[in-house]
Amino acid sequence: MTSQSQYQEAKICLLGDMGVGKSSLVGRFVHDKFDTSLTTTLGASFMSKTVSINDKTYRFQIWDTAGQERYRSLLPMYYRNAAAAIVVYDITNQATFNVLRDWIRELQKLGPPNIVLAIAGNKSDLTENREISTEEGKGFAEEIGAVFSETSALTATNVAELFVEIGKRLPTEAPPTLRTSQASHTVTLNKTSKGGHSCCSQN
Ligand code: GDP
Repeated sequence: MTSQSQYQEAKICLLGDMGVGKSSLVGRFVHDKFDTSLTTTLGASFMSKTVSINDKTYRFQIWDTAGQERYRSLLPMYYRNAAAAIVVYDITNQATFNVLRDWIRELQKLGPPNIVLAIAGNKSDLTENREISTEEGKGFAEEIGAVFSETSALTATNVAELFVEIGKRLPTEAPPTLRTSQASHTVTLNKTSKGGHSCCSQN
């Protein structure tokens, strides 16, 4: 890519409780790596990845958020101008599924209109510990008109596919405000060191 006009920018934010695997999903998608040494995300960071879907090229700006309740007041900043939100739960942890409704309600109330919603049931490799059936996850996603996928950041199952599905649902033009929001590059809140998983890598 040599000029910005050749691709469409789209901000995608990941929401969901702490420990569901948001950072791991971003790491898998952006770097195709699963880093078990990741420490808990504090604040938020974003990474960029350029993806071609059908005849279009997208530059996804992927924002990873903190699941901690005490940071919730900061969340509107993360999903502001987002073209899509991936709300993640852990298929082995019922509590992380139960809170999905709260995340969705908040997004629908305070998020951008027409935001593309996706529900990701992560850790699908841990089948023996499953607490939420595929049907239950899918049913909820259908109810709210969201993309649904069961993913594994560990094995890479359905991770790229999820982002491609989201890309297919994006409107053809990004909101104009996104193009002028490069100041968000400076927003890094109390980010802990996560080894190679640092804020704002570009590729
Ligand atoms: P976050 O707090 O939502 O960002 O979650 P992390 O990405 O930090 O992951 C929390 C824990 O779950 C870490 O120990 C990860 O190694 C683990 N984890 C994340 N994704 C998967 C997955 O797909 N499968 C398995 N088995 N473990 C995962």
